[in-house]
Amino acid sequence: MYQGIAERLLDISSKVHEACRQAQRSEKDVKLVAVSKLQPIDVINQAYALGINNFGENYAQELAKKSLACPKDIIWHFIGPIQSNKVSLIAKHANWVHSIDREKIAKKLNEVLENEGKKIHALVQVNIDKEDSKSGIPPEEAVDFVNELMSDYPSLMLEGLMFMPKINVSNKAKMDTMNKIIDLQKLLLTKIPSCTHLSLGTSSDFEESILAGSTILRIGESLLGKR
Ligand SMILES: *Cc1c(COP(=O)(O)O)cnc(C)c1O
Repeated sequence: MYQGIAERLLDISSKVHEACRQAQRSEKDVKLVAVSKLQPIDVINQAYALGINNFGENYAQELAKKSLACPKDIIWHFIGPIQSNKVSLIAKHANWVHSIDREKIAKKLNEVLENEGKKIHALVQVNIDKEDSKSGIPPEEAVDFVNELMSDYPSLMLEGLMFMPKINVSNKAKMDTMNKIIDLQKLLLTKIPSCTHLSLGTSSDFEESILAGSTILRIGESLLGKR
């Protein structure tokens, strides 16, 4: 059966509603970011017309192009790996950046933002499963790294952590990872109470992520369709 974005949004919303009920959390505390990487602008406009106004992009040039072409009140989240030569584009076009994991990039981003007189919401990406193929800093370094960025780079508004756990693993492995994330988030909040955000959960694990305390879901294909 053909399903459009509206039908998929209803389906996701009801799953979010149910997971929030189970977790005894308010739905207001869970933000939905529609991951629009590699999707045409038309798809973004369709989702926007349904009331979605947070979108996630992985590639700086694509972000720049789309932010210029789409409605101005869209809030753009940069969620991909950050290359040094793309920092200016990201600073200019994103409102949030989820994928900070290197001092060098944070420094450069802060410099560009200062010149533009702009601040950005920032999250530190953590490589929770310590996969070689993935970006992110090791979990045991996360709290110190956030602290350091907060004191050195005032144009980055540090608000929490971002995770991209392994998918296609056993339920047991998934649970172990979610528990590690919960523990790290608790530790972070005791050391830095203002870091209230947790960017966690994609099409394949957003319900578990809500149970683990996610405040920002990054959902691509199950909402906007195949890319
Ligand atoms: C692509 C991507 C997503 C969305 O994944 P889906 O499986 O399409 O929901 C979320 N987070 C990051 C960092 C991504 O690169």
